[in-house]
Amino acid sequence: MKIDVVEALQLKEKPEWGQNLGFGKIFTDYMFTMNWTEKEGWCNAKIEPYGPLSLDPASLVLHYAQETFEGMKAYKTKDGRILLFRPEMNARRFANSNRRLCMPELSEDMYIEAVSAIVEHEKDWIPTAEGTSLYIRPFMFATEAAVGVHPSSSYKFIILLSPVGAYYPEGMNPVKIYVEDEYVRATKGGTGFTKCGGNYAASIAAQVKAQKLGYTQVLWLDGVQHKYIEEVGTMNVMFKISNKIVTAPCDGTVLPGVTRDSIIHLLKFWGYEVEERHLSIEELMQAGKDGTLEEAFGTGTAAVISPIGELNYKGEITIVNDFKTGELTKKLYDTLTGIQWGDVKDPFGWTHEVK
Ligand SMILES: *Cc1c(COP(=O)(O)O)cnc(C)c1O
Repeated sequence: MKIDVVEALQLKEKPEWGQNLGFGKIFTDYMFTMNWTEKEGWCNAKIEPYGPLSLDPASLVLHYAQETFEGMKAYKTKDGRILLFRPEMNARRFANSNRRLCMPELSEDMYIEAVSAIVEHEKDWIPTAEGTSLYIRPFMFATEAAVGVHPSSSYKFIILLSPVGAYYPEGMNPVKIYVEDEYVRATKGGTGFTKCGGNYAASIAAQVKAQKLGYTQVLWLDGVQHKYIEEVGTMNVMFKISNKIVTAPCDGTVLPGVTRDSIIHLLKFWGYEVEERHLSIEELMQAGKDGTLEEAFGTGTAAVISPIGELNYKGEITIVNDFKTGELTKKLYDTLTGIQWGDVKDPFGWTHEVK
């Protein structure tokens, strides 16, 4: 792929590289952009200064939300190497999202090449303090100027980079989760397995409701019976019940998380039994009551692992592990982030060096 570089006239001042970076508020000097048209396919690949876009107000994305995205991170190792984590998984998921939304696909090679090019270009922006990384946000949207629902004849693909610290201000401390029994996130046949903007727009009402009640995130139940556990906020969710780990299967409504897959691999590698099955909220609350619910945590690129300390279902409250981070939760976090930051041996070939 030929990538033109447009030089910025002025570079930004870099922030303090500490834990207080926050999440997703600071962006680097440059972004990757590329267009797609029916005639030319992918064209015009560029690394250009980060800045506002000029967009026709009739652009289809602004009306019908034909938009998809990904989320990944780049890490700088102690010896100065730059690592991505399983980027081919994100490339494949992005292609699945795009197929579902009738958007053009980007080959796995092109996706990884584009991500690598912009990360390499902005490598001085990768923070090195403990727990920090460079968040990568590739996304694609419909740019054809038209009113009327149909697949766009043109698209734009962009990659933004943002140096980040912890996702939740709570850090690795347990969060309080509200079990949502009114709003739903996804149903079979819908777009639950994709990262498309519309899914998240539709989820905000539940998040606002939970936060008003003093909870950090919601736990989603299935869209038909409001009975089976799906995910927590924008993370997959796992429960350790009687020494087995239970998580929802990826059968159309759950987002197939790269972190989820990696955690399942690690757990099986350590000899744990992992059940990918439909777990009802009643079974979970009962496990909380009779003490067999040992640990609970969310998994996702942004927070990596987020322990759950409390669940509220219809006013009934279960406290998990005395509101402390569980031993296995901590071990999973340490091992996975250790592999991601290049501090722990990677027996799975998950890390991908950017050169
Ligand atoms: C991104 C996301 C996840 C986590 O996926 P990762 O690949 O682990 O980051 C889980 N659920 C939802 C709804 C998501 O958007």
